[in-house]
Amino acid sequence: MVPADNTASPERVVIVGSGFAGFTCARKLCRTFAKAGRDVEVVLVTPNDYMLYTPLLPDVAGGLIDPRFVVISLADALPRVRLVVAKAESVDLQHKTITVAGEDRPPRELSWDRLVLTPGSVTRLFDVPGLAEHARGLKTVAEALYLREQLLRQLELADGEDDPEVRSARRTVVVVGASYAGTELVAQLRALADAYAHRRGFDPSEIRFVLLDTADRVMPEVGERLGDKALNVLRDRGIDIRLKTSLRELTDHQVVLTDDTVVPTYTVAWVTGVTGAPLLETLDLPMERGRLVVDTSLSVPGHPDVFAGGDAAAVPDLAAPGKITPPTAQHATRQGKALARNVAASLGIGRAVPYKHRDMGLVVDLGPGFAVANPLGVHLSGRLAKLVTRAYHTYALPRGVNRWAISLTYATNVVTPRPLTRLGLVSPEESSFVGSEGIPNKRGA
Ligand SMILES: Cc1cc2nc3c(=O)[nH]c(=O)nc-3n(C[C@H](O)[C@H](O)[C@H](O)COP(=O)(O)OP(=O)(O)OC[C@H]3O[C@@H](n4cnc5c(N)ncnc54)[C@H](O)[C@@H]3O)c2cc1C
Repeated sequence: MVPADNTASPERVVIVGSGFAGFTCARKLCRTFAKAGRDVEVVLVTPNDYMLYTPLLPDVAGGLIDPRFVVISLADALPRVRLVVAKAESVDLQHKTITVAGEDRPPRELSWDRLVLTPGSVTRLFDVPGLAEHARGLKTVAEALYLREQLLRQLELADGEDDPEVRSARRTVVVVGASYAGTELVAQLRALADAYAHRRGFDPSEIRFVLLDTADRVMPEVGERLGDKALNVLRDRGIDIRLKTSLRELTDHQVVLTDDTVVPTYTVAWVTGVTGAPLLETLDLPMERGRLVVDTSLSVPGHPDVFAGGDAAAVPDLAAPGKITPPTAQHATRQGKALARNVAASLGIGRAVPYKHRDMGLVVDLGPGFAVANPLGVHLSGRLAKLVTRAYHTYALPRGVNRWAISLTYATNVVTPRPLTRLGLVSPEESSFVGSEGIPNKRGA
């Protein structure tokens, strides 16, 4: 172990994770310290040198958007932050150090005066035989790219397949999870498959999509009316939606549903929700529903120098007393700002504030010509919702160059069909839950 790195300025804030919460916190902290004329070092520990704009991952999986456009370069966006491209392995709360490990470097220690824990979440897995080996999530670029390439590969293999049963299995996709992320994914994969069938000259209905959820409706987040509209549109596109149904087991060529139906397939996406990042379990701190307990000022009770926010933290929802804030980018971004403000206040700059935010609604892109959205409680669907959805994402991307690239992509997409080329760059291992999200495989596969 390399000893603690104590070479820097008098004070140091270490932020773990460069998602919506960590990125926003780092950016605001740098501005606050510069404005106050304080020499406080801001260190961002993250395994990737980018911030990932996850809401556009379904478009990446559907081949609509280039993955480079949904990642924000930290070196460019946060020039005053000291970037440590490594994973936080453990935290010593008593001695105020954190152990980080990079790809090619031995573990080393970093000391901190204030620690901000924003390592986000990972896909929630259930004890379903074959799940970790044969399904893929949608939390990372590797997973999104893999799903796109896997679908195209299976469609290409099906074209040359003589056995009708194997051909049909290769032309079948199962998506588990009908909340907004899973529903957006199935809509985008359907659009990709339709584009493939049109260009190869066969009937798109030969490619089968099955969407499963244990709930009795799709996208409960957008309410009954918009959820029903989405359900009808997806069913019109030939997606077989089975509610109150999930997976019992998977192999490399089929899945068995909880109602005992067997569906032959080689492509399974698992998008059933999230739980706090694995790092949180090593901390020996109180947790609620897989997330770290914090108070309304986002500090960890009993540890006034430690703060947490975003998907990793169970933040009391002052706008809905008795609940915790849902794991959304909307909350994570605002909690990032509140974290910066309260960390700065703990160092004598400004005043701490409790976190409070009323949900502003959701935008859900459901593929060609359709979306649903409920901004500020106004229910929209169809082309108007599509416009609002695309405008919102373009605006919400935190860097101008990404906004520009996404706008051009949307414009290009109006006049040219989505590309169907396969690059084969992501291996099954790199895109697995272990390889891509770092989720320990408890079944030992
Ligand atoms: C497909 C999809 C679509 C979505 N669409 C929407 C949407 O439309 N609207 C919305 O509001 N929300 C949406 N969400 C939810 C949103 O993405 C999350 O709520 C948000 O990303 C949470 O932000 P965060 O900063 O807490 O965590 P994350 O964005 O998950 O970032 C966590 C960061 O911590 C890093 N990290 C993890 N462990 C460690 C470690 N040990 N050491 C160092 N770094 C670590 C990760 O690599 C990552 O960079 C979507 C999510 C998905 C998956």
